[in-house]
Amino acid sequence: MPTYEHPTLFIDGRWVNPAGSGVIDVIDPATEKVIGHVPNGSAADVDAAVHAARGAFDPLISVDERRDRLHLVIDAMEKRLPDIAHLITAEMGAPVRIAETVQTQVPLAVAKGFADALDGFAFEERIGNSLVLREPYGVVGAITPWNYPLYQVVAKVLPAIAAGCTVVLKPSNDAPLSVFAFVEACEEAGLPPGVINIVSGPGQVIGERLASHPDVDFVSFTGSTGVGSRVGELAGQSIKKVALELGGKSANVILDGADLATAVKVGVGNAFLNGGQTCMAWTRMLVPQRHYGEALDQIEAAVARYTVGDPWDPATRIGPSASRSQFNTVRGFIERAAREGARLVTGGAEPVRDRGFFLAPTVFADVDPESELGQEEVFGPVLAVIPYTDADDALRIANGTPYGLSGAVWAADDETAIAFARRVQTGQLDINGGPYNPAAPFGGYKKSGIGRELGRFGLEEFLQTKSLQLRAGA
Ligand code: NAP
Repeated sequence: MPTYEHPTLFIDGRWVNPAGSGVIDVIDPATEKVIGHVPNGSAADVDAAVHAARGAFDPLISVDERRDRLHLVIDAMEKRLPDIAHLITAEMGAPVRIAETVQTQVPLAVAKGFADALDGFAFEERIGNSLVLREPYGVVGAITPWNYPLYQVVAKVLPAIAAGCTVVLKPSNDAPLSVFAFVEACEEAGLPPGVINIVSGPGQVIGERLASHPDVDFVSFTGSTGVGSRVGELAGQSIKKVALELGGKSANVILDGADLATAVKVGVGNAFLNGGQTCMAWTRMLVPQRHYGEALDQIEAAVARYTVGDPWDPATRIGPSASRSQFNTVRGFIERAAREGARLVTGGAEPVRDRGFFLAPTVFADVDPESELGQEEVFGPVLAVIPYTDADDALRIANGTPYGLSGAVWAADDETAIAFARRVQTGQLDINGGPYNPAAPFGGYKKSGIGRELGRFGLEEFLQTKSLQLRAGA
């Protein structure tokens, strides 16, 4: 395995030495070996990057220029997708077949969704005697997590460019290599200096400086609810716009009369996608009491097909947890759930291999909806199965966590499922297996966040409105 060395940061169109010293080790979670380094940036690097982004920001940028920039980045990124997929497997352990599809093809679809949204977008409209202008927000601080490293960056940087904003990007320390490759694609695309900048380093230094910087207009954060709260606090103190894409504990509600076999099969696949390290994963499966035994048998049979192992093996469906700290966190959740009385159906807290952060897909039955496992996001391969008595009980359980990011409803017909879905407090729901739509707004209710990403709604986040009141007849 080659090592990936990135000694410099991309600021103002050049790769420059960081102001701070030291490097961050990037660790392959399958082997625990160091596979690369990125700079341990400092607040001074953020200041330089924000200065460059401010200098590059032109509030009067034409729509044609934005469209050109967007397409140049999409084309350059598309060429690098095979390399980026391999970096994602190396740095966060996504199985190669997930890296080559969901981890890279979904971001490409999302990127193209922004190009579609830009075409025909009404940047100006008349309301009575007013001309309402939608103008770029300005300098964006983008802070991203490690679980889908390319997707998270695409969901922020591309709409920012489409809106005419400039960006300072802070990737996760656990998966920065693929993001540096994305920035290299932006460089290759020939964006003007300062339009995109990257500063790696500790979240508490780089992220907090971005969130509190007086010359950042908008901070767009994706990550945990705890850190999101801190980012929101800092953004609030400096009166800047903030978007927060946070955690989830989404419910897969299988109503009586639904196609149980399909709902279970799709539900298990969703819960364990990317080793359960998916914010929108359906980590609670709600099953009618009278089909409970049958459902558990089907779940166990479905989970048996989820092979854990070497992420470079095309047959592998679950790779390692992305980092030692994540591995330890997930093991802690499993141990406490067992102690608190949930019934272990399969899996457990024991590592699957001597080296690397491998855990078996784990299913708990009889999970108390009020217990830690019923309430808190695990972010690993752990599914909680919860029986319910009737539809009202299912709704109470589905809505009974602090989160509201995603979910699913399965019923005998779409009307019944949609009627139930209208009462669920969450940002998106799949109805009877309806497919993912990269143009539909994505974001959370309750503590799952503020704001929306993707498509037209995602583009609008990066715009602010100005009203010009016109005289009669104008
Ligand atoms: P995290 O620990 O909150 O970190 C997210 C980003 O914030 C990283 O770049 C991190 O940098 C940075 N950060 C850490 N402390 C900070 C601080 N005090 N101020 C500013 N930035 C700071 O989350 P994660 O573990 O990377 O990702 C997993 C979480 O993300 C899960 O909760 C998941 O649900 C959530 N998520 C949500 C969505 C969504 O769209 N709703 C999507 C994906 C993931 P370091 O790398 O230096 O720590």
